[in-house]
Amino acid sequence: MNQPLIVRGAPQEYECHEGAWQQLSAHLERRQLKKVLILHGKKSWQAVQNFLPNLTDFSVHYEYYGGECTDAHAQVFVDMIKKEHFEVVVAIGGGKVLDTGKLASIRAQVPVFCLPTLAATCAAYASLSVVYNEDGSMDRYDIFPVSNALVLIEPRVILESPIELMVAGIGDTLAKWYEGISIIEQIEEKPIEITVAEFAAKQCQVVLLRDSQAALAAMEKNELNQAFLNVVETNILLAGMVGGFGDEYGRTAGAHSIHDALTILPQSHQQLHGNKVAYGVLVQLVMENKWQELEELLPFYDELHLPKSLAAMEMTLTAEEITAVAKRAVLPDETIHMMRGTITAEKVAAAMNNLEEYMADKKLL
Ligand SMILES: [Zn+2]
Repeated sequence: MNQPLIVRGAPQEYECHEGAWQQLSAHLERRQLKKVLILHGKKSWQAVQNFLPNLTDFSVHYEYYGGECTDAHAQVFVDMIKKEHFEVVVAIGGGKVLDTGKLASIRAQVPVFCLPTLAATCAAYASLSVVYNEDGSMDRYDIFPVSNALVLIEPRVILESPIELMVAGIGDTLAKWYEGISIIEQIEEKPIEITVAEFAAKQCQVVLLRDSQAALAAMEKNELNQAFLNVVETNILLAGMVGGFGDEYGRTAGAHSIHDALTILPQSHQQLHGNKVAYGVLVQLVMENKWQELEELLPFYDELHLPKSLAAMEMTLTAEEITAVAKRAVLPDETIHMMRGTITAEKVAAAMNNLEEYMADKKLL
């Protein structure tokens, strides 16, 4: 390890159970917060309001978050918080709503409560925001020196969320293990922080492989079960712990660089982030020559309809396009270089072609 790490372990408080959102008023009271700015999304907002408690004892102002987590949108809310003297931001929605709430609250120096309506990312848990440019492209990650003040997860809200977003969240969270271990296995003497990150990453894999199918069945039947609760907490809490304790050593490696590189192709935009990351996990395993682990994952990919090849994503690339993606994947600041050895564009392109041939040979597409 040549870089010191900073632990950002957890939100200050976290509750995940039926009725958790009903605790919002009690949490506001305990913290003596009266003036509340609620940021919300669009799609889920109508459906989820019934889960909130009566807030008539508080002065509450509701705002749509603006559609994207950009500096400009966050600044609107920073100005609003300062002018109206809001004491807390309650962000209710998907990852972008929560990221906007976190960014604005940190800048305005007030606490943020995160109430996720999806389990597609660990945004509710992690004290960082993914910030986008005005043109919709990703700009950067901002990692904050302050934890989220409170996370309230109401499983019944997430039970009603779109199933394909849950599947994509599972694909993204599964990568925590494969990317994490590819970095961690290079460390000879692991400090305790890394041991915790490794444990959380391993649990991501164990729980998701064991419980995902039953969790998705719960969503189809609209009936809570333990497997569903486990998958929700894996995608949010365990996923957040991997980066929270491992810092650089618990974030992304090859799979996410493959994902980032695919985004240069317009035909990739119809695929959800987690699906492309799931494909990236397989490319990374080929690069690492971990064929047995790859084969062990295939039945799981089939169950969840996660893409095992470019063909499965309806992306038939020319040799030039493969080269362009491979070159993009190995740009100097890409996390693919956290993997063992020297990573070149040729190596990435060979792995992508290998995987495609392997799946075609085995008629596994
Ligand atoms: Zn991701």
